[in-house]
Amino acid sequence: MLRLSHGVRRASLYEGRLKYLLNNEWKESAATEYIPVHNPATQEVVCEVPKMPLSEMNAVAESSAEAYKSWRETSILSRQQIMLKYQQLIKENKTEVAKLITREQGKTLADAEGDVHRGLQVVEHACGIPSLMQLKGETLQGLSKDLDIKSYREPLGVVAGVCPFNFPAMIPLWMYPVALMCGNTFIMKPSERVPGASTLLSQLLIDSGLPAGCLNTVHGSHDCVNFICDNEHIRAVSFVGGNGAGEHINNRAAGSNGKRVQSNMGAKNHGIIMPDANKNATLNQLVGAAFGAAGQRCMALPVGIFVGEAREWIPDLLQMAKDLKCGPGHEPGCDVGPVISPQAKEYIEGVITQSVAEGCHLLLDGRNTTVPGYEKGNFVGPTIITGCKPGMRAYEEEIFGPVFCTVEAETLDEAIALVNSNQWGNGTAIFTNNGATARKFQHEIQAGQVRMEYLYLRITFFKVGINVPIPVPLPMFSFTGNKKSYVGSGHNFYGKAGVHFYTQLKTITELWRAEDATELKAEVAMPTMK
Ligand code: NAD
Repeated sequence: MLRLSHGVRRASLYEGRLKYLLNNEWKESAATEYIPVHNPATQEVVCEVPKMPLSEMNAVAESSAEAYKSWRETSILSRQQIMLKYQQLIKENKTEVAKLITREQGKTLADAEGDVHRGLQVVEHACGIPSLMQLKGETLQGLSKDLDIKSYREPLGVVAGVCPFNFPAMIPLWMYPVALMCGNTFIMKPSERVPGASTLLSQLLIDSGLPAGCLNTVHGSHDCVNFICDNEHIRAVSFVGGNGAGEHINNRAAGSNGKRVQSNMGAKNHGIIMPDANKNATLNQLVGAAFGAAGQRCMALPVGIFVGEAREWIPDLLQMAKDLKCGPGHEPGCDVGPVISPQAKEYIEGVITQSVAEGCHLLLDGRNTTVPGYEKGNFVGPTIITGCKPGMRAYEEEIFGPVFCTVEAETLDEAIALVNSNQWGNGTAIFTNNGATARKFQHEIQAGQVRMEYLYLRITFFKVGINVPIPVPLPMFSFTGNKKSYVGSGHNFYGKAGVHFYTQLKTITELWRAEDATELKAEVAMPTMK
């Protein structure tokens, strides 16, 4: 049995009433209200999250500000050693983190391991921080006689992250490894629906040697987020989640309080299926991307645009979707786990019902799915809605469930126009065996279509897959997004943009005149820097 340094069982960290992390100690909250965390396959309450009072959250921010004073002076090489150890500990504890994800979020164990693995890749990338920081500065010597200019990146100070429920490991790991390696201290607010993985990952970072106060946590829901938006010590906020919270955070933290914000929000990704694509590979990819994780991925593919004769493949797709097994994520052979809550199930089933009323055809109906032995689980079976059109609810809204909408188009141009007029801008994909088709798609997608209200001061792009249904970039690239899927200062997550987000440039212009040692007369005219 694994124990913490003071002898307490490690598993007690994510059982019962959760504690919060302050100065590398897990503290009991004086909260009077707790949010129950349910296993979505059974409704069993697995732990409870405190709604921390303001006084505790203020103490957390004070601790982070204090820790920053010495952490920013800690050499980059020392910081790097901690991250190297951390990546090793995550590898060793991957299965335990994955089990917590399945218990609280519902996804299958294999998928949960993928969740940890994609986060681990960011940690591995952050291990290269000396080169990452070095590449982000610039110097130019001898600009004019004895004058040099150099710029380098410095940390911001205390920064914070607010996380969603759907990737309990990967998304926290998008945030603090890069932020900490850049020299910031970090306040993590895990999703109140899936706090376990984030708790264990925080403990592993303490075990890796992170000094006290560099990573602290706060727990709660809206009040806790508002605290992060308002607290004077916090300089930047990373957010991933839905549009309601993301736009609110941008308005309050950036708009009212002048903080830097990166906010990755909702999505409705479209895939174009060309008749020349590899049929079997494409259908397998569509089924995985639409129904994997019960459709609860921001990079899921909930809309398929079948061009020309590709529409004849829909019956085969139906058969493959029917073969998927719904069940609790921990059971071997299960393909589609439960959705996060009874409310989510009700919402998803409501959209499916309305799609029929709006004239769509339900090729496969996942409503009222029950799993023997798990009758209370929030299961929705794979669902295929055909005949969807823009303007219909099932087409427009982010359903975030195992629901695949098919749309038909006569030409590639028509399909590209549909993708370009999609209000969301997270990702898209094309399936084709024709290089020229792929190139045209890659070139024309999103051209000139970005809605002005989402363009304010931003340079963002989105993710395009060519025969890749879920093109989530590896961490040496950034996780981009645009239109209604992103708001903020223009910096995306990880990659170069991640380092830019968590740092600020300082530019030094220095003149060390060769003859200066003996020069005594002051210059009073405006320096021309010649
Ligand atoms: P959510 O917005 O409900 O919650 C995310 C976080 O925001 C939580 O920590 C929650 O406590 C907080 N929050 C929620 N409502 C709030 C409010 N009104 N005021 C202040 N704080 C609030 O999101 P979720 O349901 O946990 O996650 C699913 C959403 O996340 C989907 O829309 C999905 O597309 C999106 N997502 C986007 C990406 C991306 O990179 N674009 C990645 C993963 C998930």
